[in-house]
Amino acid sequence: MAKMTIKDLDVKHKKVLVRVDFNVPLKDGVITDDNRIMAALPTIKYLIEQKARVILMSHLGKVNHKDPEKTEADKKKNNMAPVAARLAELVDTNVTFVPVTQGPELEEAVNGLNDGEIVVVQNTRYEKGESKNDLELSRYWASLADCFVSDAFGSAHRAHASTVGVAEILPSALGFLVEKEVTALSAAIYNPKRPLVAIVGGAKVSDKIAVIDNLLKIADKVLIGGGMAYTFLKAQGLQVGKSLLEEDKIELAKEYLARGKDKLVLPIDHKVADNFAVDANTKIVANDEIPEDFMGLDIGPKTIELFKKELEGAKTVIWNGPMGVFEMQPFAQGTLEVCRAISELDDANTVIGGGDSAAAAIQLGFKEKFTHISTGGGASLEFMEGKQLPGIEVIANK
Ligand code: ADP
Ligand code: MG
Repeated sequence: MAKMTIKDLDVKHKKVLVRVDFNVPLKDGVITDDNRIMAALPTIKYLIEQKARVILMSHLGKVNHKDPEKTEADKKKNNMAPVAARLAELVDTNVTFVPVTQGPELEEAVNGLNDGEIVVVQNTRYEKGESKNDLELSRYWASLADCFVSDAFGSAHRAHASTVGVAEILPSALGFLVEKEVTALSAAIYNPKRPLVAIVGGAKVSDKIAVIDNLLKIADKVLIGGGMAYTFLKAQGLQVGKSLLEEDKIELAKEYLARGKDKLVLPIDHKVADNFAVDANTKIVANDEIPEDFMGLDIGPKTIELFKKELEGAKTVIWNGPMGVFEMQPFAQGTLEVCRAISELDDANTVIGGGDSAAAAIQLGFKEKFTHISTGGGASLEFMEGKQLPGIEVIANK
């Protein structure tokens, strides 16, 4: 069912509260990657053009509210000021940063907005009530604006005051980023052109239980790579040496193997290393040859060929989780080749969810080669698990 989108809202001369995802990586107060700010620009620029008065809110990092000493240190570390400064460089209007989340300074800044101008509010997590979806806080934030736009896909899986609380009070709609995410991910998960091939990797089975569960239901094939593959291989009775292994998930892996049958495709060879290091000694071995003192850090060349074959003719590909430790060049080959194979598919809807998978695809030069690379780590994971995200659910249907 279609949700209200920003174009359905009357925003002209209105105060529009927008929940964006400005949770960018910071190092000593300097932004190391502004992708998330860039991703919010279509909504922000549209509102400027429409002569709205824009109030932007986001969380940034975590703030511990249990230990007062930590609270102060976290607030200092996760100050939104550098984000507002970066935004000011990207838009052609006045951007006012308000270093608080409540009170006269914020209210004056909001009331002083002219059409097409922006206020950036301090990190929402300065407020203890934010992550508790506190009603009073939601009412207060809602009182600042005439309507609300939900554009923080990366936070849509959390029912917080700034994602769900305010949306329950104000006329609300999805922003362009969330609309794009929902459209692309829904097409792959709920209405896939077939065959649908899912590729799951990354570190641990335990992070991906619900994803594998759902993908086994909806996909035609589920290819498993990365660290989690070793728990599956162990479940088949193989020795995995020093590879990542979750003993307590072996039974579950057995269950998936029984349920998935031919649908579930495991690696057949590996690049193993004697150390978790760039300069480790490595070799390529088959499943039954993993030495006791080596660990599997990437899928091997035969597995790459096998996965490429499985991908042939796919019309939808859902990818979550790298095939190996792609952060280290000697173990990036599997992820690189799988990326390449997906990018060469004709006429396929190809989506990536998961923070590290998205980073890998971008880092390896495939940013433009996928139909959609999700901006939400946890949120895209939950979407792929088939869950409804509260930050999207709360927006009314048209
Ligand atoms: P995503 O964020 O895309 O959901 P995960 O967080 O589940 O992915 O997993 C990403 C991490 O998995 C990466 O840091 C990568 O180095 C690691 N990884 C992949 N394969 C292996 C492996 N064979 N052994 C150890 N770690 C691995
Ligand atoms: Mg991750």
